[in-house]
Amino acid sequence: AQTAIKENQPQTPQKNTKKKKEKLSALCKTPPSIIRNSERIFHRGISLGEGGFARCFEVTDSNDIRYAAKTVAKASIVQDKTRKKLLSEIQIHRDIFHKNIVEFIECFEDDINVYIILEMCSKGSLMDLMKVKKCILEQDAKYITIQLAAGIKYLHFHGIVHRDLKLGNVFFDEHYDLKIGDFGLAATAEYNKKYTVCGTPNYIAPEVLTGAKTTGHSFEVDIWAIGIMIFAMVYGKPPFQCKNVSDIYKKVKSIDYSFPENRNISRDCQILIRDILSLHPQMRPSIDDIFDYPWFTYDFPKTVSFNLTGAKDINGN
Ligand code: ADP
Repeated sequence: AQTAIKENQPQTPQKNTKKKKEKLSALCKTPPSIIRNSERIFHRGISLGEGGFARCFEVTDSNDIRYAAKTVAKASIVQDKTRKKLLSEIQIHRDIFHKNIVEFIECFEDDINVYIILEMCSKGSLMDLMKVKKCILEQDAKYITIQLAAGIKYLHFHGIVHRDLKLGNVFFDEHYDLKIGDFGLAATAEYNKKYTVCGTPNYIAPEVLTGAKTTGHSFEVDIWAIGIMIFAMVYGKPPFQCKNVSDIYKKVKSIDYSFPENRNISRDCQILIRDILSLHPQMRPSIDDIFDYPWFTYDFPKTVSFNLTGAKDINGN
C-alpha cells in the first residue's frame, strides 16, 4: 500500500516545535481589512494558508489585481535569529526575476506586521496537487520538472541556493505555470560555507546529515530535492518516506530506496532520478547537465494533462 506524501516542517537551526508554532500563530493576528503602504492600498481577502512563521492572505490592489500577502507579526520576530531569517528572505527574494519564481512585488510594515506582497499563485502548490492526485502522469511530471529546473537554473546562475525545495514550496499560477516560492532558507553561495542542518526531512541531502567534507552543502542540495520531487510525483511518495525522521535519515545516508514496480515509469526517468540521488554531491548532475538528460530530449509534452480540479483553487474554479 502506498503511504501518502507527507511534508514535515523544515529542520532549521531553531526548530519549529508545535508549541512554538501555536505561539506564533497566536501572535499573528488577522491584519486589518485595508492594508496600506505609503503609495498603495490593498484590500485583504481570504486566508491562503499558514506556514512556520507567516500567514498568507489574498489581497487586491486598487486596480483589482490579486496578490498574496505574506504577513509576519512583528511580535514573532523579536528574536535576533528570526529577524535575520526574515531579512535574508526579503533581501534574496526581492532581487530575483524569473517566470518560474514567485514574483516579489514589494515589502512594507505597519505597527503590528511586516507584509511581503507576492505574485498570486491561485492554483495552490504542487503538494496540494499531489494530495488530490496521489501520483501524476510521467509526462506531466516531465512538464513540471522542466519548469522547476528552469527556475533553479536561474537561482544557481545567480549564486543562490534555495535549500528548502519541496512540493509545498512550488506553486502554480492561474495558467498552471510553475513558480518556486518561499526563500526563507535560501542562501547566497558565499554565505553558505558552514554546515547547518536545514531543509525538510524527506528532502534533506545525505551530506547535510553527515556534514561530509565537501565545499559546503551548496547547489547540490537543490539538485537532490529535484530528484526527490520527481520520484514523489511519479510514484506518489518520496523515496525515503518512513514514519519517523531518524529512519528517513538512515535511509538517506545509505541511499536505501527502490523504484516501485506498480507504476510503469520509463527507464529514462529512473536514470535521471538515480543519477540525482547520488550519495556524493559531486556525482550529481549540475542544473545544466539535467537539461541534457534523455528524459527531456525525447517525447517532450507541450502542456499538462491535468486541470487541477479538486486541487486548491482559490477561485473555486
Ligand atoms: P512559511 O511560514 O512556511 O514560509 P508561507 O508563508 O510561504 O509559509 O506560506 C503559507 C501558506 O500560504 C502556504 O501553505 C501556501 O498555501 C500559501 N501561499 C504562500 N505563498 C503563496 C502565493 N504566492 N500564492 C498563493 N498562496 C500562497
